Amino acid sequence: MAVTPAALSHAEDLADFVAASPSSYHAAAEVARRLEETGFVRLDEEADWPAQPGGRFVVVRDGAVIAWVVPADAAPTTPAQILGAHTDSPGFKLKPQPTTGSRGWLQAGVEIYGGPLLNSWLDRELRLAGRLALADGRVVLADTGALLRLPQLAIHLDREANKALTLDKQMQTQPVWGLGDPVEEDLLGELASSAGVNAADVRGFDAVVADSARGAVFGRDDAFFASGRLDDLASVHAGVVALAAASKDTSTSGSIAVLAAFDHEELGSASRSGAAGPFLEDVLARVYAGLGADATEQRRAFAASWHLSSDVGHSVHPNYVFKHDPVVQPLLGSGPILKINANQRYATDAVGSAAWAQWCDTAGVASQEFVSNNSVPCGSTIGPITATRLGIRTVDVGIPILSMHSARELAGVSDLHDLTRVAEAFFRA
Ligand code: ZN
Repeated sequence: MAVTPAALSHAEDLADFVAASPSSYHAAAEVARRLEETGFVRLDEEADWPAQPGGRFVVVRDGAVIAWVVPADAAPTTPAQILGAHTDSPGFKLKPQPTTGSRGWLQAGVEIYGGPLLNSWLDRELRLAGRLALADGRVVLADTGALLRLPQLAIHLDREANKALTLDKQMQTQPVWGLGDPVEEDLLGELASSAGVNAADVRGFDAVVADSARGAVFGRDDAFFASGRLDDLASVHAGVVALAAASKDTSTSGSIAVLAAFDHEELGSASRSGAAGPFLEDVLARVYAGLGADATEQRRAFAASWHLSSDVGHSVHPNYVFKHDPVVQPLLGSGPILKINANQRYATDAVGSAAWAQWCDTAGVASQEFVSNNSVPCGSTIGPITATRLGIRTVDVGIPILSMHSARELAGVSDLHDLTRVAEAFFRA
């Protein structure tokens, strides 16, 4: 079945969003930029915040971002509808003293960030991007564009490569970025000049390596969308589009719509800007204080709130069917997924399942379920972490993909748009 024109244009917009978001810092900035364009007011955590009712706000903390819409008739016990996602993706992060190389090659010293499929990063044109902290106190974003590559060894020099390809995590993951003498060259200088600043003024940096190729629609009937960082920018993007749409009418609504996109999910979320940190709680506390809520009223609001935790999950893979549950096998293009796990790797329960079904019904979207094969345990996500922190009812959902943690993942065009439609229904609930 052909995908709709709306789904195709949504996928193109996602390709723009991913291209603008090579690092978590860029993703958070891009979320804020897009929402400010539609009338959201950017707030600073160090400043006083304006009175809230009828307002739309966004605040960035490092590589995380939270945006919210307060209806004009909001009360101290008005619940929140929170869509959670994460801005970071597996890959590589620049080490200190990163300009290395040998035999006439310039190379970059990198650490592995999270759990990338290392082989998928070979033979791609890669960007170096992140933030620079300057001597004058400013923090600026930097992005070199296509600069680096991890060249695979030729088959002639490794006849076993098609039987077992193993990369040494130190020796064989250091990308090349030019020709020259590493003593005379400076990779940080490249990064600084891409941001229009002087390398001597850079006092600190957080920079990652990201695939530079643009996302693309392909396959029969345009069913497929391939891109880097779909995990989890597909959810962040769905949240931004849905929040902008749902916030067009802020006069009355039963709830406060919140988009919370955290950093460091791929590392377990334990950081100042991660889901295990206090960012969401800090923002919600100030939002409810702005509504005049006392501690009990805020607890009442939390008790009536929902957190829709959205992250990618696994579609059934036709070449590895045995890796999936023998019965429950979500398929790319058949709708967003509800993620279920007996061991609370996902926070979904019976009540959450019913709520999800209601939001999907409201949006007119079909959904699927995901559960792991017992012998192949799944990963986890931010859902159980925020549920544990805040006690807010949480449902884990997402879109089915293949090639999770590859430098270029594979999603279904219709699922991306359908997730956005459910997210909008969720925000309006
Ligand atoms: Zn993820």
